[in-house]
Amino acid sequence: MGSVVLSLDAELAWGFHDADSLPEDRIAAARESWLDLLDLFDEFGVPATWAVVGHLLLDSCDGEHADHPTPDGWFDRDPGTSASRDEAWYAPDLVEAIEDASADHEIGSHTFSHVEFGHTTREVASAEMREAVEVAERGGRSVDSVVFPRNYVGHRDVLAAYGVKCYRGVKPRRWYDRGPLGSVAKLVGWSTGAISPTLVHPEEDEYGLVNIPASLYLFGFEGRARTAAERVTDDPVVRMAKRGIDRAATEGGVFHAWLHPNNLTEERDFDRMRAVVEYAARARDESGLDIETMGSIASAVKDHEPRPREPIGPR
Ligand SMILES: [Zn+2]
Repeated sequence: MGSVVLSLDAELAWGFHDADSLPEDRIAAARESWLDLLDLFDEFGVPATWAVVGHLLLDSCDGEHADHPTPDGWFDRDPGTSASRDEAWYAPDLVEAIEDASADHEIGSHTFSHVEFGHTTREVASAEMREAVEVAERGGRSVDSVVFPRNYVGHRDVLAAYGVKCYRGVKPRRWYDRGPLGSVAKLVGWSTGAISPTLVHPEEDEYGLVNIPASLYLFGFEGRARTAAERVTDDPVVRMAKRGIDRAATEGGVFHAWLHPNNLTEERDFDRMRAVVEYAARARDESGLDIETMGSIASAVKDHEPRPREPIGPR
């Protein structure tokens, strides 16, 4: 029997602070979407893994982070105020809302300040993990699961040294993920059912971390392509997700879907999420499919293949 995993990159403004301009609509919608998603998950008793940017756990900061070895300017947009003043940069209330939900969510980490681990030094990666773990531990929490910003996997040894148990790996590439022909095939294939989503099989890596690759980004099919597809059929992403859930229920393996709270800006985005969550909950109730957090998947893999390991690097 298989599992469904839902993971969220919870970042508010931190997902964009290194961009030329901030997408104000997505940032403005993100808080409300975060809370609406918690309500939706509670309605169906569905647990998710919330990979929260560590800075959001802070009540306030100096805006400088002078001890942090990131390049000059990295914290330029950090307002250096507090949660009551700048709620896109601090969100201890939203983290508490995850804990207060009745669904048994996991709070993971999306690094401290959304640094791309595939493109940074070991020193910066270590500082990101140290800050993220410290702010979590000050709140009585641990960091078991990590989602890499923009999915750039890197410095896995550093994660292991900080006691992380698992991460979301990149989606296995398929032929239709490349080139203009692939895009056309994807549009047609997603709509008609000719393309089936990827089921993944979590495995322990050389550092003792469990890699739980992504299967489907629930908002990777947007803009004109989405509108065109919806003109001829119902939401192609919902169709794709339902096929993934069905396959997990019948074939085993993990269907790992992911999103950002800030992806939900329109009514049709909420309709999509409701359809996916409701379908997964029904499959669980009728077929015994598991809906699990990343941490729970990792524990199952580790229990199955116990392997002692020595943490490396500074703690
Ligand atoms: Zn700050």
